[in-house]
Amino acid sequence: MQDKPLTSQELAELSADLNRLARNLWWTWDQGTQEVFQELSPRAWQNLYHNAVAILREVSEHELRVRLQEPDFLARVRKVLAAFKAYMEERPTWGHLHAAPLQANPVAYFSAEFGFHETLPIAAGGLGMLAGDHTKSASDAGLGFVGISLFYREGYFQQAIDSNNWQTEYYTLLNPNNLPIEPILNEKGERLLCRVEIGMNQVVFQAWRVNVGRVCVYLLDANLPENEQHFRDLTLRVYGGDSTTRIMQEMLLGVGGVRLLRALGTQPSVFHMNEGHAAFLTLELIREKMAAGKSYQDALELTKAACIFTTHTPVEAGHDRFSPDLVEYALHRFSKQIPAPFSELVKLGQVDPKNAHEQFCMTVLALKLSRAANAVSELHGRVSRQMWHCLYPDRTVDQVPIGHITNGIHLLGWMKGTVRSFWRRKLNGHPAPPPGSDEGEQGLDWDAYLNSAVFWQRIADPEFVSDEELWALRYKLRRELIEFARRRLLIQRQRAQTDFIAFDHLLNPDALTIGFARRFATYKRAPLIFQRFDEIVRLTRVKARPVQFVFAGKAHPRDDEGKRFIQHIIHLSKHSDLQGHLVFIENYDVHVARQMVSGCDVWLNTPRRPLEASGTSGMKAGCAGCLNFSILDGWWREGYDGSNGFAIGEDSHPGAVEEQDRLDSANLYKGLTEQIIPLFYERDELGIPRRWIQTIRRAMVTLVPQFTTQRMVREYAEKYYLPG
Ligand SMILES: *Cc1c(COP(=O)(O)O)cnc(C)c1O
Repeated sequence: MQDKPLTSQELAELSADLNRLARNLWWTWDQGTQEVFQELSPRAWQNLYHNAVAILREVSEHELRVRLQEPDFLARVRKVLAAFKAYMEERPTWGHLHAAPLQANPVAYFSAEFGFHETLPIAAGGLGMLAGDHTKSASDAGLGFVGISLFYREGYFQQAIDSNNWQTEYYTLLNPNNLPIEPILNEKGERLLCRVEIGMNQVVFQAWRVNVGRVCVYLLDANLPENEQHFRDLTLRVYGGDSTTRIMQEMLLGVGGVRLLRALGTQPSVFHMNEGHAAFLTLELIREKMAAGKSYQDALELTKAACIFTTHTPVEAGHDRFSPDLVEYALHRFSKQIPAPFSELVKLGQVDPKNAHEQFCMTVLALKLSRAANAVSELHGRVSRQMWHCLYPDRTVDQVPIGHITNGIHLLGWMKGTVRSFWRRKLNGHPAPPPGSDEGEQGLDWDAYLNSAVFWQRIADPEFVSDEELWALRYKLRRELIEFARRRLLIQRQRAQTDFIAFDHLLNPDALTIGFARRFATYKRAPLIFQRFDEIVRLTRVKARPVQFVFAGKAHPRDDEGKRFIQHIIHLSKHSDLQGHLVFIENYDVHVARQMVSGCDVWLNTPRRPLEASGTSGMKAGCAGCLNFSILDGWWREGYDGSNGFAIGEDSHPGAVEEQDRLDSANLYKGLTEQIIPLFYERDELGIPRRWIQTIRRAMVTLVPQFTTQRMVREYAEKYYLPG
């Protein structure tokens, strides 16, 4: 049977199935599928930045069919197709069992950005990554879920560094034909078109569907010839343009998103606003309810009962505020359809309705019109209740109705191939099903097992995984990162045409490698570690105990202070005594993040407390054995237990910023010299750092299964999505 050639019919079906698979982002967290696409064209896989859709356009139908006649390859293709089918058809899911009402009436999750994978760069940072991971875990859980966002045809900016080490931005046009997205058609097979009144105009938009496992996200797209250019450009760039662009983008997202769902016949049971950007959806719900005959007061109450809101930052700039004039201009035609005085609508976005000049705040609108709200870590909950106490003057701070659910990550999506295969091999060697599982060994679902606390608890056991194996994994990952960095730096320097450096000798595969990669928002204090510069230089020079740094990150295009931080760090990497011990990898994105959180030994995080609402990059480090060294802010305050990583300072902070910076810088240096470096270099006769590895084990046991979006999504379902 194996040797019989495939019929043309069978080949056509396999090809169609592979094309369908390429257009479902499930493959971004399935290693077997990635390997199949990579094998079709290893070079294109690298050049096209791991884009399965583009690979299938690169490889002709003829070539594909010929390749499928190769028995080994065919067997692997069949295996991944079967795994995909099994995933899609699994019944019952957690969602069927625990959130059944959401099957018919899903959660509609609105977010201005989603980060899924490097091929679809429509996220600016952590907020988008979280939305993407939330969606992947909603799919894994089989939750009734649909996402809404915009299709930014130039995505988020790409970073280049000029000869003055200054960040410059450039944009590349995304080609929908090469992306894992599909146009939404009406029953006649034509593009489904919807409309939103923006300013004095009607703006027409179409939509694209991103399949994410069992759920989907719709991306609204105003780039249609029917619209004037400035409306077409509403979906040009993530957070592009000025505040007029911004408010209009947000109208498209909020109002347009609800209208698209209605046109598709989807009746969500709850609308989840991921940050305030989407809060105009509440006005559309009010409009609908008044059109159905409800009074303004009733419409407000009904809307409130249908919405929930997640706030993501205590940083002022993270809360959109618009002047009442701009609001009146942008909502001009739309608001005429709501039979209530415009002044009443404006008050929905103001803390003090008596102050007509107060800026209209999207967070205020979202808070006033949701039945529940939450922050993204315990401390952030406390800070947010303080911050928005003004909206609830007759309550105490503790009674302000903002709870918290701590963020997580989609574990499988963040495991790079090496890490994934390592754990797979471990599991295959020890195929005992988790205690309490009613599945036999045959039916064991490795992916689900990998997400379970039971699995990670086994890492404590040296019989299951030895120090030697873990240390070998760490070496392998560190080398992979260093070789990735060398390749990237070579390309960066070629582009900048600067001096020759022996890239193959840059960075040291034996050295303690400290990583820092995030948005260069100033509160994250990227250069803090270099404040005691001479002492840091001295540390990198100790022959027996070398230390090195890998940095990456983008500053917002209008944030010159953030760009100065980048400039400073790149300057140090090229022209100071840190040369060779410090590199800056340009164009931070999902792919760079995945390399760095896996390859570094220590993940540094130095936000000015309490401004890091949660942070998620440190969570990605755990499954690869990279240890956190962080201010006790956001998630780390909850994760750190004294044995599973390192803290900078205490669970408190002084009021004055200068004092805080001084203290944190001192504590950072202290932690590095008194704890981290000695522990990393404390070796036995085999050269193995037993106590360091013990800390890695503790991190895996205590952190990895806890800070996942699987846990997070279940918490959202139980606490917020399900009715009362
Ligand atoms: C995880 C991630 C973030 C968020 O990380 P923080 O810890 O919140 O700074 C931002 N950008 C990318 C590309 C990421 O992968």
